[in-house]
Amino acid sequence: MSCLFCKIASGEIPAKVVCQDEHLVVIEDINPAAPLHLLLIPRKHIVNTLDLQPEDDVLIGHIHRVAARIARERGVAESGFRLVSNNNAAAGQSVFHIHFHMLAGRSLTWPPG
Ligand code: AMP
Ligand code: ZN
Repeated sequence: MSCLFCKIASGEIPAKVVCQDEHLVVIEDINPAAPLHLLLIPRKHIVNTLDLQPEDDVLIGHIHRVAARIARERGVAESGFRLVSNNNAAAGQSVFHIHFHMLAGRSLTWPPG
């Protein structure tokens, strides 16, 4: 498997791992766009939202609940944070293994660029 995030999830490629469990790994983004910029990456290789199967519903819910826990731990739950995934070229997806960006620590504008 030549997928970057599969290799990070398996430990084959090092990353700054914030936390992990049997379903996902959370790492610091190598090119942070905010003071807090984490990537929540499921261990399962899923290309993007378009590739989700019914059996992935629990996994996606779990990822969101881990994000909520991290937001509270990092003290950004009340101030605010953004959880986003980019899907395909026009949205800027560059790694084709589904992941959720968690951004916080500054005022985040809307709409995004
Ligand atoms: P996207 O463009 O939505 O597919 O997001 C991919 C993200 O992965 C970008 O924000 C990159 O900065 C980040 N990224 C790429 N390679 C690495 C890496 N080796 N370790 C951590 N983050 C990475
Ligand atoms: Zn992968």
